[in-house]
Amino acid sequence: MPHDGIIYLDHAATSWPKPPEVFAAVKRALGPAGGNPHRSAHRLALEAARLVLEARSAVASFLGAGDARDLLFVPGCTFGLNMALKGLLGAGDRVVISSVEHNAVMRPLAVLEAHGVEVVRMPVDGAGRVDLDAAEAIIAAGKTKAVVCQHASNVTGAIQPVADLADIAHEHGAVLVVDGAQAAGHLRVDVRALGADVYVASGHKGLLGPQGVGVVYLAPGLELPELVQGGSGGESVSPAMPDARPDRYEAGTPPVPAIAGLAAGVGVLARELDAIMAHERRLVQRLVDGLLEVPGIAVLGPAPGEERAPVVSIIHESVEPDRIAYELDSRFGIAVRSGLHCAPAAHASAGTLETGAVRFSVGRGVTEDDVERAVEAVREVCQA
Ligand code: PLP
Repeated sequence: MPHDGIIYLDHAATSWPKPPEVFAAVKRALGPAGGNPHRSAHRLALEAARLVLEARSAVASFLGAGDARDLLFVPGCTFGLNMALKGLLGAGDRVVISSVEHNAVMRPLAVLEAHGVEVVRMPVDGAGRVDLDAAEAIIAAGKTKAVVCQHASNVTGAIQPVADLADIAHEHGAVLVVDGAQAAGHLRVDVRALGADVYVASGHKGLLGPQGVGVVYLAPGLELPELVQGGSGGESVSPAMPDARPDRYEAGTPPVPAIAGLAAGVGVLARELDAIMAHERRLVQRLVDGLLEVPGIAVLGPAPGEERAPVVSIIHESVEPDRIAYELDSRFGIAVRSGLHCAPAAHASAGTLETGAVRFSVGRGVTEDDVERAVEAVREVCQA
């Protein structure tokens, strides 16, 4: 069913509409839990502190972190990836990355590269998945400090073999950093079973929360220099941040409304994830099959029927992606995203760096009828 007259197929950018539970939680965080957590001792502040504590446990347990203190709230996935990369890597270090990473990885690495970090890329196959044999050879070819890989692509939907990469990385003395922006809330994520040393996700995408919060799982025993220093509500006499997690990594007032909304989103997912995943798989299958029936269209990434995150990007032999996206919005009220999706590396690997692509991304609340309408609209736009 369209919401507010919009068929929203841009869940990879941010999920919308948010569940009513998320609205309610944000409202509570602005009302009876509206104090500053871990600062004052009055009831509004204590409620806020309780809210953050419970949210941390809920999100940690949903993502498989054994100890909630290993789950850090940060301003977003981009911030978390910057924190991990800049904390782990310095001049003379070697990092191996997939050749399909988002700019949230590529741009901090470009800065680090200028400061003497060696960045080496692992190739992907035609479906956009890391080639594990090549990966192992590249990781073993030098003293690799870290391996960085996304869990799922925001361009092709390809799901990376992160558990295998974790084994290879660990065998060669490296840590694995995973960008889970497009996986959390769409795939079952268990950070410990995956073997991730650092797992970073957005709160506002598949996890259904508001914008303004992301999460970093930091494996026990792995410490990074914190990216930001400031008040932590405790040990205030010391000029240094406290050593204990999560305080060390969470300087300043946390975004309590966003954290509350994220916990509510995760609450919905904890109840519904299997059903959501099955639903998204059906929608993706229908999108892939339907779009491939439109003459002149090619789908990027995994072959029809193969597993993918709920992202389907297409190109047409003659109609430009921006044109398709514009017509879908203006004539049919269908929201999709065209262009390079902040991931030129992924587009370069897919051969679409010059053109970009049109991305359809589905999530909770999208119906089969929405997807049928989208396919029909694409057919109309492309046959004109
Ligand atoms: N990594 C991937 C694969 C993404 O798709 C995105 C956002 O689109 C990010 C990182 C950055 O997420 P955020 O903008 O929430 O910080």
